[in-house]
Amino acid sequence: MTYTKEQIKQEVKENNVEFLLLEFTDMLGDTKNVELPVEELEMVLNEEAMFDSSSISGFSDIQESDMYLVPDLDTFLLLPSLVDEDRSARFICDIYKPDGTPFEGDPRYILKRAMKEAEDMGYTVNVGPEPEFFLFKLDKDGYPIRQMNDRGGYFDASPKDKGDKVRRDIVRTLKKFGFEMEASHHEVAMGQHEINFRFDNMLKTADNIQTFKNVVKDIATNHEYHATFMPKPISGENGSGMHCHLSLFQNGDSAFYDEDAEDGVSKTMKQFIAGILHHARGIAAITNPNVNSYKRLVPGYEAPVSIAWSHSNRSCMMRVPTTRGKGTRFEVRNPDPTANPYLTLAVLIQAGLEGIRKEMDAGEAEARNLYEVDDDSVPTLPTNLKEALSSLKKDELLLNALGDHTSQAYIQDKEAEWTEYSLQVSKWEIDKYMNK
Ligand code: GLU
Ligand code: MG
Ligand code: MG
Repeated sequence: MTYTKEQIKQEVKENNVEFLLLEFTDMLGDTKNVELPVEELEMVLNEEAMFDSSSISGFSDIQESDMYLVPDLDTFLLLPSLVDEDRSARFICDIYKPDGTPFEGDPRYILKRAMKEAEDMGYTVNVGPEPEFFLFKLDKDGYPIRQMNDRGGYFDASPKDKGDKVRRDIVRTLKKFGFEMEASHHEVAMGQHEINFRFDNMLKTADNIQTFKNVVKDIATNHEYHATFMPKPISGENGSGMHCHLSLFQNGDSAFYDEDAEDGVSKTMKQFIAGILHHARGIAAITNPNVNSYKRLVPGYEAPVSIAWSHSNRSCMMRVPTTRGKGTRFEVRNPDPTANPYLTLAVLIQAGLEGIRKEMDAGEAEARNLYEVDDDSVPTLPTNLKEALSSLKKDELLLNALGDHTSQAYIQDKEAEWTEYSLQVSKWEIDKYMNK
């Protein structure tokens, strides 16, 4: 939906909106927002809403902390009241500096730069994400406990599936948010669920992922559950991924489909895939951003471990589903839902475009089950956050994709996270070594 300022003023008036929510995403992928009374609408639309960004992860340092929240008018939304009768409207905002230029550390800006790069090469990109999540029970004070909401498994029906009502409520709400909803189901692990929504361009998809995660959490709370997008909450069970299906278009036609090719896949798609494979280890630092992310990327749980591509093999990092024609696409399987979606899509696209520019070779599709291949013939994704960060630090293309500000702040933040983790002594270590 596109809006003019006048249309927005009209909508706000007609719907008796009381509050305006200005949202944006920090470097670590968390949604932040500030709420203003409706009387400030004129000021917001004049792009004069200022905030102190010094306490936002990955934003400015204390010397230049004043930033502006510039509403993206196309993201205007009358919020369905989730909890009570509040009448509020939200905007997703771009971040601008006092000199009127975009803030280079704004994840939305970083993604827009990548989209511009694609456009300059004549391409537009669509992305369909598949975020998975768990529902956990709450204690009497409303805090999550380590007990899943049910003991269901893949595609189980009620009453084994105790998430059906929650998922239905999420779907209903997201429809009111303007989402085109697709299938939802119980996932493989106990308490694990998946709800799909339709692909869109990269910016819209990244915005949608943020909205999706917030709605899932809010609705779960209404049902007295805790929703988590943590990649591997339970050891020995499947983790939660956020597979991303990417398709590329040139002059309205799929640049990934080639009806003359034996497998229907164009050279452009294979080059794009080759670009992502080439940068995969550094990309992981963004797509798998936490210590816990790497506990998901292990053999045997439908999550990828190998830097390889295939037609249907789930052990590979990338997979080309069978659909051809406009729907020709590939699925990147390693991202998880704690990744910042703007940065994730920016690095994937910049790596893919480099693959096209340099006419990189993706090699043959992998046919083996790589969980069972125990030699060095196929490179693997990093086994922990530290390895991923050292690859990112050496990857010029990815550092440029993120820009100086964010690459430095991100690496610093994540190295500190790794150090903090390394200093912990876990229960596993105590159990394993106490008797030594
Ligand atoms: N939960 C699996 C993962 O960690 C994916 C399962 C699926 O293919 O949907 O990526
Ligand atoms: Mg799934
Ligand atoms: Mg998938």
